[in-house]
Amino acid sequence: MPRAFITGITGQDGQHLAEFLHSKGYEVFGMVKGQNNPKLTAMRDEFPYVEPVPGDLADLPSLLKALESTQPDEVYNLGAISFVALSFNQAELTANITGLGVLRMLEAVRMVGGATNNPIRFYQASSSEMFGKVREIPQTERTPFHPRSPYGCAKVFGHDITVNYRESYGLYACSGILFNHEGPRRGLEFVTRKVTNAVARIKLGLQDELVLGNLDFKRDWGYAGDYVKAMWLMLQQDEPDDYVVATGETHSGEELVRLAFEEAGIEDWQRYVRQDQKFFRPAEVDLLIGDPTKAQEKLGWQREVDFPSLVKMMVANDLRIESARR
Ligand code: NAP
Repeated sequence: MPRAFITGITGQDGQHLAEFLHSKGYEVFGMVKGQNNPKLTAMRDEFPYVEPVPGDLADLPSLLKALESTQPDEVYNLGAISFVALSFNQAELTANITGLGVLRMLEAVRMVGGATNNPIRFYQASSSEMFGKVREIPQTERTPFHPRSPYGCAKVFGHDITVNYRESYGLYACSGILFNHEGPRRGLEFVTRKVTNAVARIKLGLQDELVLGNLDFKRDWGYAGDYVKAMWLMLQQDEPDDYVVATGETHSGEELVRLAFEEAGIEDWQRYVRQDQKFFRPAEVDLLIGDPTKAQEKLGWQREVDFPSLVKMMVANDLRIESARR
């Protein structure tokens, strides 16, 4: 039975990946931080097959202990301070967890190593936010980085140090440059889920308006369930490499809002939406669109859920949750 160790198990991708690896017959270990993590009970209920392991990306000894006790074949480093807006307010924390946390995890992988004939394979969750003020359209594995937030800067360090450990120490280390991916498990702080949840609440008469920042930004949005398959595929190749994972389509913030309201049967969406400067980023990333050709050709990866189906899935989920709460 192959063994996988996942950091960020309580996050959106950690949950999808745990589900996927379990379906593939893996024994799944999930790193949980804190002495009384409020998400642990829900995780135990929904994913009884995941074995929780204590640890924190700020603490190298805890990572070493976690890998020594679990002896994984594959390590997926998904843990991060992942919310761009928060990274502007807590830049040092973001650099420490999202950036230096990768170095600590790589160091733990290097030191624990795994079996001589089966060294640990490492996946790093890199991000399209590294492209920031984009240098070319669409963005590929060769597009130069120009991050526009402390989060983006920390991810560039995580990406580069992953490549460096591969080249310096021969680690099987891959970096997946994933464009935005969403789904019903997305945290409520992220714009897609904020929109679909507010639309559901407005539809049910529980909320009057949706307050947002800039709506002109454009993103390449996919479904998280599709994207975790690409992470796994990267670790099944003969040689480690880096891959862009994206849909190759871009949609504006306004399109997201309009589609979500339409899905709930509300046509005059402008009536409910207000823009507020406080939700504008200090430096915006205007246009992200990825070229997934390498992932498609080398990994055989394909996305299955398109943008309208993704919005539909998220609105339906929030309508179900909010109706049950009424
Ligand atoms: P998420 O839902 O925000 O989950 C983040 C996870 O990181 C949570 O499990 C969180 O644990 C954990 N974490 C935070 N601080 C930690 C620490 N000090 N030590 C250990 N774990 C810690 O993020 P996601 O959407 O699943 O994304 C997974 C990864 O992919 C992240 O690295 C993210 O930056 C990256 N990424 C995401 C996207 C996207 O569109 N979703 C795109 C590109 C890259 P708690 O719940 O206990 O706080």
